[in-house]
Amino acid sequence: MWAKLKKKWKRKLLAKLLAGNNVECNVCNHRYASFFPYLNRANAQCPNCGSLERTRLIYRFITELELLRPGSKMLHIAPEAALFHKFKAMLGDGYLPADKFEEGYTYPNDTLNMDITAIELPDNSMDMVMAIHVLEHVPDDAKALREVYRVLKPGGVAILQVPYEADRKTTYEDATIVNPEARRQHFGQSDHVRIYGSDYIERFVQPGFIIEHADYAARIDKATRERYVFKDEEIFLLRKPLQ
Ligand SMILES: [Zn+2]
Repeated sequence: MWAKLKKKWKRKLLAKLLAGNNVECNVCNHRYASFFPYLNRANAQCPNCGSLERTRLIYRFITELELLRPGSKMLHIAPEAALFHKFKAMLGDGYLPADKFEEGYTYPNDTLNMDITAIELPDNSMDMVMAIHVLEHVPDDAKALREVYRVLKPGGVAILQVPYEADRKTTYEDATIVNPEARRQHFGQSDHVRIYGSDYIERFVQPGFIIEHADYAARIDKATRERYVFKDEEIFLLRKPLQ
């Protein structure tokens, strides 16, 4: 019976069971006794919009710092559904969601099929580029970074979060490891091509970015962090210099 229920109705039913006011989603403003579990994490995903801990943190970062405003042009690579709707509503045609299409996956409407290492946009055309947990899948991340830099306007910003191991000083990669099972063993996931170490941000600034980093997550007080269940991780804002 449960298996036959449509996903949408399952979500609605579970959301009812989680009625309460312990946690709140800052993306869609819904409140619950707790969020859904996600992978091995309890209390992680918003039952309404699907936001995760990192999605909520980044959304707060973008809104609090007013990084986007009506009229801004944004390229959003591998768009999270929860943020897709918010950015589309705010930016209209200035919002460009894009992804490298793969079989077996579905993508929100209007998503462009695009490779981050060959972005089909003019130089100096975007106010923001965002790609969350994308570059660990991209063999030539240096080329992707140069492309992101190229399409940003002078003064434009990029948010390029990746999973990384803080204890690992040097990023581990080996281009000869291409088999999915071997990649899982070496890099932790069958479609990852490296494990970033704490040196990752030095790689990311290579095209000429300036880091604007102010310990954002660490400055959020404990009660707020617990209410919204924000991920406790650094966000590096990468700015293309004005000249
Ligand atoms: Zn939500």
